[in-house]
Amino acid sequence: MQRQDLSGILADFELFLGLTNLNFYSATLVEEQKDLKAIMEVVGKQREALADNFMYELKRLYRYLETVPDSDVKLILTLRHAHFLTWRQIADCIGGGLTAEDVRKMHDRYCAKHKKLVAREQNKSNSKIYTYRWRKAGKAYLKENPLCVHCQRDGRLTPATEVDHIIPHNGDLKLFWDRSNWQALCKKCHSVKTAAEDGGFGNAIK
Ligand SMILES: [Zn+2]
Repeated sequence: MQRQDLSGILADFELFLGLTNLNFYSATLVEEQKDLKAIMEVVGKQREALADNFMYELKRLYRYLETVPDSDVKLILTLRHAHFLTWRQIADCIGGGLTAEDVRKMHDRYCAKHKKLVAREQNKSNSKIYTYRWRKAGKAYLKENPLCVHCQRDGRLTPATEVDHIIPHNGDLKLFWDRSNWQALCKKCHSVKTAAEDGGFGNAIK
């Protein structure tokens, strides 16, 4: 009788323990789920932002592709940059006995031509910066700084005729108009510097 009571109490106690554990676990679970929900919300927002960004870039890409006149090149560019296919897969898509190497060459040839075009556009926009205002500012600067600083550095006194941007501005108006980025040079020193900048690796055409 006593024994039975004891086992009954033990059973109750075990049940009680089980319940409290369960409660403890479920409370933690609820907290964890709350955290997880917050994390998922952030991830969701990030994914939306990425998707928005991707859509924006994709639209920009398609708008650009519309301007590509050659239909084969257009297809290659689309399959490569919008569908992320390999050269081999692109060659298979196009058919006509084209190899992966042919396709890659067509792509690279087009890109090289396009880069030149962009550089020409950049030059055009640069020439817009070299306005009357710049000529006037340059003249005033040379009046204050009449000697070529490069020649002077080498111990020669040569009249400066041009204002150079120490750091190439590449169309950046802030760099362009920043007088602390200007230096007076003679024609010879200026063309030596410009040639080094344009010919140098990684330098955009000024
Ligand atoms: Zn000089």
